[in-house]
Amino acid sequence: MKLGAFEAADDVVLPFAVEALDTRGRVVRLGSSIDTILSRHGYPDAVARALGEAAALTVLLGASLKFEGRFQLQTKSDGAIEMIVVDFDAPDRLRATARFDAGKIAALGPGARKTADLLGQGILAMTIDQGSERSRYQGVVALEGQGFEEAAHQYFRQSEQIPTRVRLAVAEEFSAGRRAWRAGGLMVQFLPASPERMRQADLPPGDIPEGHPAREAPPAAGEDDAWVEAKALVDTTEDHELVDPELASERLLYRLFHERGVRVFEPLSIHEECRCSRERIMSMMRRFSREDRRDMVGDDGRIGITCEFCSRMYDLDPAEVEAEVAQPEASSP
Ligand SMILES: [Zn+2]
Repeated sequence: MKLGAFEAADDVVLPFAVEALDTRGRVVRLGSSIDTILSRHGYPDAVARALGEAAALTVLLGASLKFEGRFQLQTKSDGAIEMIVVDFDAPDRLRATARFDAGKIAALGPGARKTADLLGQGILAMTIDQGSERSRYQGVVALEGQGFEEAAHQYFRQSEQIPTRVRLAVAEEFSAGRRAWRAGGLMVQFLPASPERMRQADLPPGDIPEGHPAREAPPAAGEDDAWVEAKALVDTTEDHELVDPELASERLLYRLFHERGVRVFEPLSIHEECRCSRERIMSMMRRFSREDRRDMVGDDGRIGITCEFCSRMYDLDPAEVEAEVAQPEASSP
């Protein structure tokens, strides 16, 4: 590919391959999609950064879905950020939301920027849902003070056994008198033709006591040279390169892999879009008892529901709701 021949594009996932290193990957850049999500909620900066990273990771992983389906990333933890949910609906829709403890965020002070410090202890779950006739798959990683990059590495080590390296970055850009959020990510995976080359460095010794010979034992045979090289190159990626609006993904890839040769594939455009609807709200209403629904009626005599993802408000007439839930549910998804 020719340097300088590419325009930087936002809200795009670019798949690529470095065949000489048996490595494949994707670069994602989120512009207006992530700015829409983060600005709408007005999250504290630290929460916005964490959710931006989660969204970039979700798009990197969800973009592999070949069919209609959903990739969902979810955290539940005891830190200042109690919960994050990011949905990627194939082929191109992204939505995200976070719940946080404002008191704990304030207690962390304005310097708190590291996602790991905000998540605390809990779990990160990644779910692939390909619809009713296909199986649902879920992988879970314990959150023990690590951020999304390290959690993703653990997930692929444990659940998929694919050597994987992920870089994520979030930044605010000031232009035309307003600030706008940006997020970016890079993921590479080692996928050699022969599976025995996929050996990875051993996991940390864990519970083996200090001084035990097994703890001091030299690591088993090392990782494949091609993977060691690919990983080292990815680790040179600077945060600003992932979020720079002027730097095309192709240029970043060229900077990293030009000595080995890198091939890019058809880019995939994505956008922010919620999938909430009055029908889905009604479907949820059916799962509550009549008493629960009665308790939802506000002082104005209406049932008001606000979507946690897109903040859209649904203003429902309780009598209409009761009439509708009495009808059999339409079988649309
Ligand atoms: Zn919504």
